[in-house]
Amino acid sequence: MIVVMNPGAKEKEIKKITDKLKEMGYGVHLSTGENRTVIGVIGQRREEAAQAMEAMPEVEQVVFITRPFKLAGREFHPEDTVIKIGKVTIGGPKLTIMAGPCAIENEEQLMQAAEAIKAGGAEVLRAGAFKPRTSPYAFQGLEKEGLEFLKDVRSKTGLLIVTEVMDQFTVQEVAECADIIQVGARNMQNYYLLRELGKIRKPVLLKRGLSATIEEWLMAAEYILSGGNFEVILCERGIRTFEPYTRNTLDLSAIPLVKQLSHLPIIVDPSHGTGLSGLVPAMSRAALAAGADGLLIEVHPNPQEALSDGPQSLTPGQFQSLINELKGVALSVGKLI
Ligand code: PEP
Ligand code: MN
Repeated sequence: MIVVMNPGAKEKEIKKITDKLKEMGYGVHLSTGENRTVIGVIGQRREEAAQAMEAMPEVEQVVFITRPFKLAGREFHPEDTVIKIGKVTIGGPKLTIMAGPCAIENEEQLMQAAEAIKAGGAEVLRAGAFKPRTSPYAFQGLEKEGLEFLKDVRSKTGLLIVTEVMDQFTVQEVAECADIIQVGARNMQNYYLLRELGKIRKPVLLKRGLSATIEEWLMAAEYILSGGNFEVILCERGIRTFEPYTRNTLDLSAIPLVKQLSHLPIIVDPSHGTGLSGLVPAMSRAALAAGADGLLIEVHPNPQEALSDGPQSLTPGQFQSLINELKGVALSVGKLI
């Protein structure tokens, strides 16, 4: 349920209401708009609690949330969520560019990729140490050794790090060297992992599952939010369709739809979304035009020799010219790169 305060409600009045809700055993989440404060009430729906709130003179109205995703929905939090990590923001007018190799292969490859993406204007380095590979015979990632390389690159370049965690047992370890923790498409419905991520206080990049509906995806986000971690970034990375020319079908309509349904930021991954580096520029332009808050792009110093996802990875040169080209697209939708 949502408690909408009277327009211009003072801090003291808001506190009175939140104290009362806490007394009744509810959690509260404040959302402060220009002239209205909305209190998201977390806990079981109880008619008498709603009636008690409606009787308060400071309260304008009580609204029940009809969607199954309560905390992820716009009803609960009408303003866009903007996540701040140091100087980087995700979800505001400044677009966030995350880029880097699919997998960390060695220290030199990671450093070269980091320098290239930084020169191109990216603020977040993506690189996997734990890799969820379809084949058990494919390169599985450097795991713990890869995490060490990430720490080193982070301190040398100042870039933020996004890297994947594959199970609930390694969350703490990954959290130590990541600024954003990635949940891969294959793990979107790993509820033990999602619950563990709800307990930490670090942003989570939640990729859409291979064949997940938007509602299933938002419900996965709900697991993390309901644990108390409100920093969830959604990532559209394409879904499985009948079309074999592309690796996945990038669902561009998910961007404006998610923006209607949810307050969470949404990043688009045109690399996994298409599987083809030649399609990445056009889909990046389209994603920004459709309202994405940023991009996650695979970049490898030498894509032809990549141990994973070479065909969809851009070279440093291609990445740098793409970002330059995207500046105009960003401006046309009132954003900046
Ligand atoms: C990745 O980002 O390298 C990755 C494995 O992506 P996804 O989970 O979207 O397949
Ligand atoms: Mn990849």
